[in-house]
Amino acid sequence: MVNFFRNLFGWMTTDLAMDLGTANTLIYVKGKGIVLNEPSVVAVSTNGAGIEAIGADAKKMFGRTHSKVETIRPMKDGVIADFDITNKMIDNFIKKVLKQYKFVKPRMVVGVPTCITQVEKKAVIDASLMAGIREVFLVEEPMEAAIGSGIQIHEPMGNMVIDIGGGTTDVAVVSLSAIAYGESVRVGGDELDEAIVRYMRTHHHLNIGVFEAEKAKIEIGSAFPLDKKLTTEVKGLNVRTGVPTSLTIGDEEIREAMKDPLAIIISAVLRALEKVPPELSADIHSNGIYLTGGGAAIRGLDKMVEEKTTLKVLIPDDPLLCIVKGAGMIMDDFDSMKIVCIN
Ligand code: ADP
Ligand code: MG
Repeated sequence: MVNFFRNLFGWMTTDLAMDLGTANTLIYVKGKGIVLNEPSVVAVSTNGAGIEAIGADAKKMFGRTHSKVETIRPMKDGVIADFDITNKMIDNFIKKVLKQYKFVKPRMVVGVPTCITQVEKKAVIDASLMAGIREVFLVEEPMEAAIGSGIQIHEPMGNMVIDIGGGTTDVAVVSLSAIAYGESVRVGGDELDEAIVRYMRTHHHLNIGVFEAEKAKIEIGSAFPLDKKLTTEVKGLNVRTGVPTSLTIGDEEIREAMKDPLAIIISAVLRALEKVPPELSADIHSNGIYLTGGGAAIRGLDKMVEEKTTLKVLIPDDPLLCIVKGAGMIMDDFDSMKIVCIN
Protein backbone atom coordinates (compact mmCIF):
# COMPACT_ATOMS: atom_id res chain seq x y z
CA MET A 1 0.00 0.00 0.00
CA VAL A 2 2.82 2.35 0.95
CA ASN A 3 4.50 1.51 -2.34
CA PHE A 4 1.29 2.20 -4.21
CA PHE A 5 1.11 5.72 -2.78
CA ARG A 6 4.81 6.26 -3.30
CA ASN A 7 4.49 5.29 -6.96
CA LEU A 8 1.43 7.44 -7.39
CA PHE A 9 3.19 10.34 -5.72
CA GLY A 10 6.25 9.72 -7.88
CA TRP A 11 4.09 9.90 -10.98
CA MET A 12 2.53 13.16 -9.86
CA THR A 13 5.77 14.90 -8.96
CA THR A 14 9.19 15.51 -10.46
CA ASP A 15 12.39 15.45 -8.47
CA LEU A 16 15.25 17.71 -9.50
CA ALA A 17 18.91 18.18 -8.68
CA MET A 18 20.76 21.41 -9.42
CA ASP A 19 24.40 22.44 -9.56
CA LEU A 20 24.19 26.19 -9.14
CA GLY A 21 27.79 27.06 -10.04
CA THR A 22 29.58 30.38 -10.41
CA ALA A 23 30.22 29.62 -14.07
CA ASN A 24 27.55 27.07 -15.05
CA THR A 25 24.17 25.87 -13.82
CA LEU A 26 23.14 22.29 -14.51
CA ILE A 27 19.83 20.58 -13.77
CA TYR A 28 19.09 16.89 -13.53
CA VAL A 29 15.54 15.57 -13.74
CA LYS A 30 14.82 12.18 -12.22
CA GLY A 31 14.23 9.66 -14.98
CA LYS A 32 15.49 12.00 -17.70
CA GLY A 33 19.12 12.78 -16.80
CA ILE A 34 20.90 16.14 -17.21
CA VAL A 35 18.45 18.32 -19.09
CA LEU A 36 20.02 21.76 -18.69
CA ASN A 37 23.61 23.01 -18.83
CA GLU A 38 23.88 26.78 -19.20
CA PRO A 39 26.24 29.57 -18.14
CA SER A 40 25.16 31.31 -14.90
CA VAL A 41 24.87 34.64 -16.68
CA VAL A 42 21.95 37.08 -16.89
CA ALA A 43 21.63 40.17 -19.12
CA VAL A 44 19.46 42.91 -17.63
CA SER A 45 18.40 46.24 -19.01
CA THR A 46 19.78 49.14 -17.01
CA ASN A 47 16.57 51.17 -17.30
CA GLY A 48 14.72 48.71 -15.08
CA ALA A 49 12.75 47.10 -17.90
CA GLY A 50 13.84 43.66 -16.76
CA ILE A 51 15.72 40.62 -18.02
CA GLU A 52 17.04 40.68 -21.59
CA ALA A 53 18.54 37.19 -21.74
CA ILE A 54 19.54 34.30 -19.48
CA GLY A 55 22.17 31.54 -19.80
CA ALA A 56 23.97 30.91 -23.10
CA ASP A 57 22.26 33.87 -24.81
CA ALA A 58 23.34 36.21 -22.03
CA LYS A 59 26.94 34.92 -22.07
CA LYS A 60 27.18 35.78 -25.79
CA MET A 61 26.26 39.36 -24.87
CA PHE A 62 28.97 39.62 -22.17
CA GLY A 63 31.36 42.48 -22.95
CA ARG A 64 29.35 43.32 -26.06
CA THR A 65 26.56 45.29 -24.40
CA HIS A 66 25.74 48.97 -24.76
CA SER A 67 24.75 51.37 -22.01
CA LYS A 68 21.20 49.99 -21.85
CA VAL A 69 22.10 46.37 -21.10
CA GLU A 70 24.34 44.91 -18.43
CA THR A 71 25.45 41.27 -18.15
CA ILE A 72 25.64 39.92 -14.61
CA ARG A 73 27.05 36.75 -13.11
CA PRO A 74 24.84 36.61 -10.01
CA MET A 75 26.84 33.85 -8.30
CA LYS A 76 30.13 34.89 -6.82
CA ASP A 77 32.61 32.65 -5.02
CA GLY A 78 29.98 29.93 -5.22
CA VAL A 79 27.27 31.81 -3.32
CA ILE A 80 24.43 34.11 -4.30
CA ALA A 81 25.78 37.63 -4.70
CA ASP A 82 22.66 39.13 -6.30
CA PHE A 83 19.51 37.60 -4.85
CA ASP A 84 16.91 39.03 -7.23
CA ILE A 85 18.82 38.13 -10.36
CA THR A 86 19.70 34.62 -9.10
CA ASN A 87 16.08 34.15 -8.24
CA LYS A 88 14.99 35.05 -11.77
CA MET A 89 17.71 32.86 -13.26
CA ILE A 90 16.70 29.79 -11.22
CA ASP A 91 13.05 30.44 -11.98
CA ASN A 92 13.78 30.66 -15.71
CA PHE A 93 15.91 27.50 -15.74
CA ILE A 94 13.38 25.47 -13.73
CA LYS A 95 10.49 26.60 -15.93
CA LYS A 96 12.56 25.63 -18.97
CA VAL A 97 13.05 22.05 -17.74
CA LEU A 98 9.55 21.60 -16.36
CA LYS A 99 7.55 22.97 -19.24
CA GLN A 100 4.46 22.11 -17.30
CA TYR A 101 4.21 21.46 -13.59
CA LYS A 102 2.79 18.13 -12.57
CA PHE A 103 0.16 18.03 -9.83
CA VAL A 104 2.68 18.24 -7.02
CA LYS A 105 5.56 20.75 -6.90
CA PRO A 106 9.04 19.22 -7.28
CA ARG A 107 11.62 18.52 -4.58
CA MET A 108 15.21 19.52 -5.32
CA VAL A 109 18.75 18.75 -4.13
CA VAL A 110 21.09 21.76 -4.51
CA GLY A 111 24.84 21.90 -4.06
CA VAL A 112 26.32 24.62 -1.85
CA PRO A 113 29.90 25.54 -0.91
CA THR A 114 31.35 23.94 2.23
CA CYS A 115 31.89 27.30 3.93
CA ILE A 116 28.30 28.54 3.37
CA THR A 117 26.80 30.77 6.09
CA GLN A 118 23.25 30.50 7.48
CA VAL A 119 22.23 33.63 5.59
CA GLU A 120 23.62 32.25 2.34
CA LYS A 121 21.86 28.91 2.93
CA LYS A 122 18.58 30.74 3.42
CA ALA A 123 19.12 32.67 0.18
CA VAL A 124 19.51 29.42 -1.82
CA ILE A 125 16.44 27.89 -0.16
CA ASP A 126 14.29 31.01 -0.62
CA ALA A 127 15.29 31.45 -4.25
CA SER A 128 14.36 27.80 -4.94
CA LEU A 129 11.05 28.01 -3.06
CA MET A 130 10.15 31.14 -4.99
CA ALA A 131 10.83 29.25 -8.22
CA GLY A 132 8.13 26.75 -7.26
CA ILE A 133 10.15 24.06 -5.49
CA ARG A 134 8.27 22.29 -2.68
CA GLU A 135 11.23 21.10 -0.61
CA VAL A 136 14.92 21.99 -0.92
CA PHE A 137 17.80 19.81 0.32
CA LEU A 138 21.26 21.32 0.58
CA VAL A 139 24.37 19.21 0.10
CA GLU A 140 27.97 20.37 0.16
CA GLU A 141 29.38 20.46 -3.36
CA PRO A 142 32.53 18.41 -2.67
CA MET A 143 30.26 15.68 -1.27
CA GLU A 144 28.26 15.69 -4.50
CA ALA A 145 31.49 15.73 -6.52
CA ALA A 146 32.67 12.68 -4.55
CA ILE A 147 29.39 10.82 -5.11
CA GLY A 148 29.37 11.81 -8.80
CA SER A 149 32.96 10.51 -9.12
CA GLY A 150 31.80 7.09 -7.94
CA ILE A 151 33.36 7.24 -4.46
CA GLN A 152 31.69 5.03 -1.82
CA ILE A 153 31.09 7.89 0.60
CA HIS A 154 29.39 5.85 3.36
CA GLU A 155 32.53 3.77 4.02
CA PRO A 156 34.93 4.53 6.89
CA MET A 157 37.52 5.45 4.29
CA GLY A 158 39.00 8.82 3.39
CA ASN A 159 38.89 10.12 -0.17
CA MET A 160 40.14 13.49 -1.36
CA VAL A 161 38.32 15.51 -4.00
CA ILE A 162 39.60 18.72 -5.60
CA ASP A 163 36.84 20.59 -7.43
CA ILE A 164 38.06 23.51 -9.53
CA GLY A 165 35.11 25.68 -10.57
CA GLY A 166 34.89 29.18 -12.02
CA GLY A 167 35.24 31.15 -8.80
CA THR A 168 36.61 28.71 -6.25
CA THR A 169 38.66 25.59 -5.72
CA ASP A 170 37.35 23.24 -3.05
CA VAL A 171 39.58 20.64 -1.50
CA ALA A 172 37.75 18.15 0.70
CA VAL A 173 38.20 14.79 2.34
CA VAL A 174 35.03 12.71 2.63
CA SER A 175 34.56 9.76 4.94
CA LEU A 176 31.56 8.15 6.65
CA SER A 177 29.00 10.19 4.69
CA ALA A 178 30.45 13.54 5.74
CA ILE A 179 33.17 16.05 4.96
CA ALA A 180 35.99 15.25 7.37
CA TYR A 181 38.12 18.13 6.18
CA GLY A 182 37.43 21.01 3.82
CA GLU A 183 39.39 23.89 2.43
CA SER A 184 38.23 26.46 -0.11
CA VAL A 185 40.23 29.11 -1.96
CA ARG A 186 38.74 31.87 -4.06
CA VAL A 187 40.85 30.95 -7.06
CA GLY A 188 39.41 28.99 -9.97
CA GLY A 189 38.99 29.15 -13.72
CA ASP A 190 38.02 32.86 -13.73
CA GLU A 191 41.31 33.75 -12.10
CA LEU A 192 43.16 31.87 -14.85
CA ASP A 193 41.24 33.89 -17.49
CA GLU A 194 42.11 37.16 -15.74
CA ALA A 195 45.78 36.13 -15.52
CA ILE A 196 45.75 35.53 -19.31
CA VAL A 197 44.19 38.98 -19.86
CA ARG A 198 46.97 40.57 -17.75
CA TYR A 199 49.67 38.60 -19.53
CA MET A 200 48.47 39.64 -22.99
CA ARG A 201 48.39 43.29 -21.94
CA THR A 202 51.87 43.24 -20.38
CA HIS A 203 53.64 41.08 -22.93
CA HIS A 204 51.81 41.90 -26.17
CA HIS A 205 50.10 45.26 -25.46
CA LEU A 206 46.90 43.50 -26.40
CA ASN A 207 43.70 44.25 -24.57
CA ILE A 208 41.48 41.14 -24.67
CA GLY A 209 38.18 40.24 -23.04
CA VAL A 210 37.85 37.55 -20.36
CA PHE A 211 35.93 35.23 -22.67
CA GLU A 212 38.61 35.54 -25.35
CA ALA A 213 41.08 34.57 -22.61
CA GLU A 214 38.85 31.67 -21.55
CA LYS A 215 38.74 30.46 -25.17
CA ALA A 216 42.56 30.42 -25.35
CA LYS A 217 42.71 28.62 -21.99
CA ILE A 218 40.31 25.90 -23.17
CA GLU A 219 41.94 25.54 -26.61
CA ILE A 220 45.60 25.37 -25.61
CA GLY A 221 45.89 25.91 -21.82
CA SER A 222 48.11 23.53 -19.89
CA ALA A 223 49.75 23.22 -16.49
CA PHE A 224 52.59 20.99 -17.64
CA PRO A 225 54.73 21.07 -20.82
CA LEU A 226 52.98 19.30 -23.70
CA ASP A 227 54.35 16.64 -26.07
CA LYS A 228 53.09 18.58 -29.06
CA LYS A 229 53.08 22.36 -29.42
CA LEU A 230 49.64 24.00 -29.60
CA THR A 231 48.79 27.45 -30.91
CA THR A 232 45.68 29.62 -31.10
CA GLU A 233 44.57 33.01 -32.37
CA VAL A 234 43.82 35.68 -29.80
CA LYS A 235 41.92 38.79 -30.83
CA GLY A 236 41.93 42.10 -29.05
CA LEU A 237 42.81 45.76 -29.24
CA ASN A 238 46.43 46.76 -29.59
CA VAL A 239 46.71 49.45 -26.92
CA ARG A 240 49.66 51.12 -28.67
CA THR A 241 48.17 51.47 -32.14
CA GLY A 242 44.52 51.50 -31.08
CA VAL A 243 43.75 48.98 -33.83
CA PRO A 244 41.97 45.61 -33.41
CA THR A 245 44.61 42.92 -33.84
CA SER A 246 44.85 39.14 -33.97
CA LEU A 247 47.89 37.33 -32.62
CA THR A 248 49.03 33.70 -32.71
CA ILE A 249 50.21 32.48 -29.33
CA GLY A 250 51.61 29.16 -28.16
CA ASP A 251 50.86 26.87 -25.21
CA GLU A 252 54.04 27.92 -23.37
CA GLU A 253 52.80 31.51 -23.11
CA ILE A 254 49.40 30.51 -21.71
CA ARG A 255 51.15 28.17 -19.28
CA GLU A 256 53.38 31.02 -18.13
CA ALA A 257 50.33 33.31 -17.77
CA MET A 258 48.46 30.78 -15.59
CA LYS A 259 51.46 29.89 -13.41
CA ASP A 260 50.66 32.03 -10.35
CA PRO A 261 46.97 31.14 -9.89
CA LEU A 262 47.78 27.46 -10.48
CA ALA A 263 50.43 27.68 -7.76
CA ILE A 264 47.75 28.98 -5.33
CA ILE A 265 45.55 25.97 -6.17
CA ILE A 266 48.45 23.58 -5.60
CA SER A 267 49.32 25.18 -2.26
CA ALA A 268 45.70 24.75 -1.09
CA VAL A 269 46.00 21.04 -1.90
CA LEU A 270 49.30 20.73 -0.03
CA ARG A 271 47.86 22.59 2.96
CA ALA A 272 44.89 20.23 3.08
CA LEU A 273 47.15 17.18 2.88
CA GLU A 274 49.17 18.48 5.81
CA LYS A 275 46.10 18.99 7.98
CA VAL A 276 44.16 15.74 7.52
CA PRO A 277 44.44 13.22 10.37
CA PRO A 278 46.93 10.35 9.80
CA GLU A 279 44.37 7.56 9.18
CA LEU A 280 42.62 9.58 6.47
CA SER A 281 45.98 10.58 5.09
CA ALA A 282 46.94 6.90 4.74
CA ASP A 283 43.64 6.27 2.88
CA ILE A 284 44.32 9.13 0.46
CA HIS A 285 47.75 7.70 -0.12
CA SER A 286 46.19 4.40 -1.21
CA ASN A 287 43.15 5.80 -3.05
CA GLY A 288 44.63 8.84 -4.77
CA ILE A 289 43.05 12.25 -5.35
CA TYR A 290 39.98 12.91 -7.54
CA LEU A 291 40.05 16.02 -9.70
CA THR A 292 36.63 17.44 -10.78
CA GLY A 293 35.04 20.67 -12.12
CA GLY A 294 36.00 22.63 -15.21
CA GLY A 295 39.57 23.05 -13.98
CA ALA A 296 40.13 19.29 -14.19
CA ALA A 297 40.04 19.69 -17.98
CA ILE A 298 43.25 21.75 -17.99
CA ARG A 299 45.87 19.73 -19.84
CA GLY A 300 48.48 18.24 -17.54
CA LEU A 301 47.00 19.54 -14.29
CA ASP A 302 46.68 15.96 -13.08
CA LYS A 303 50.37 15.43 -13.81
CA MET A 304 51.27 18.63 -11.98
CA VAL A 305 49.27 17.64 -8.88
CA GLU A 306 50.88 14.19 -9.01
CA GLU A 307 54.33 15.72 -9.16
CA LYS A 308 53.75 18.15 -6.28
CA THR A 309 51.96 15.71 -3.98
CA THR A 310 53.55 12.40 -5.08
CA LEU A 311 50.01 10.95 -5.02
CA LYS A 312 48.00 9.33 -7.78
CA VAL A 313 45.45 11.66 -9.44
CA LEU A 314 42.21 10.42 -11.02
CA ILE A 315 39.94 12.41 -13.31
CA PRO A 316 36.44 10.91 -13.58
CA ASP A 317 34.61 10.91 -16.94
CA ASP A 318 33.02 14.31 -17.61
CA PRO A 319 34.55 16.17 -14.65
CA LEU A 320 32.29 19.19 -15.35
CA LEU A 321 29.23 17.01 -14.70
CA CYS A 322 30.36 15.34 -11.44
CA ILE A 323 28.49 17.68 -9.08
CA VAL A 324 25.16 17.51 -10.88
CA LYS A 325 25.56 13.75 -11.36
CA GLY A 326 26.24 13.34 -7.62
CA ALA A 327 23.25 15.55 -6.77
CA GLY A 328 21.10 13.43 -9.10
CA MET A 329 22.32 10.23 -7.47
CA ILE A 330 21.25 11.62 -4.06
CA MET A 331 17.79 12.45 -5.39
CA ASP A 332 17.45 9.04 -7.10
CA ASP A 333 18.20 7.13 -3.91
CA PHE A 334 17.00 9.70 -1.43
CA ASP A 335 16.15 7.41 1.49
CA SER A 336 19.66 6.05 1.83
CA MET A 337 21.43 9.25 0.77
CA LYS A 338 19.55 11.90 2.76
CA ILE A 339 22.17 11.56 5.51
CA VAL A 340 24.45 13.83 3.43
CA CYS A 341 22.00 16.77 3.47
CA ILE A 342 23.05 19.65 5.71
CA ASN A 343 19.73 21.45 6.26
P1 ADP B 1 31.32 26.35 -11.51
O1 ADP B 1 31.09 25.15 -10.66
O2 ADP B 1 31.91 27.49 -10.75
O3 ADP B 1 30.11 26.74 -12.28
P2 ADP B 1 32.59 24.68 -13.51
O4 ADP B 1 32.96 23.46 -12.76
O5 ADP B 1 31.42 24.60 -14.43
O6 ADP B 1 32.44 25.95 -12.56
O7 ADP B 1 33.88 25.11 -14.32
C1 ADP B 1 33.90 26.30 -15.03
C2 ADP B 1 35.33 26.70 -15.27
O8 ADP B 1 36.02 25.65 -15.96
C3 ADP B 1 35.43 27.93 -16.14
O9 ADP B 1 36.44 28.78 -15.61
C4 ADP B 1 35.83 27.36 -17.48
O10 ADP B 1 36.61 28.27 -18.22
C5 ADP B 1 36.68 26.17 -17.08
N1 ADP B 1 36.76 25.14 -18.12
C6 ADP B 1 35.76 24.49 -18.73
N2 ADP B 1 36.23 23.65 -19.68
C7 ADP B 1 37.58 23.76 -19.65
C8 ADP B 1 38.66 23.17 -20.38
N3 ADP B 1 38.44 22.26 -21.34
N4 ADP B 1 39.92 23.54 -20.07
C9 ADP B 1 40.14 24.44 -19.11
N5 ADP B 1 39.20 25.04 -18.38
C10 ADP B 1 37.92 24.71 -18.65
MG1 MG C 1 30.94 23.74 -9.51
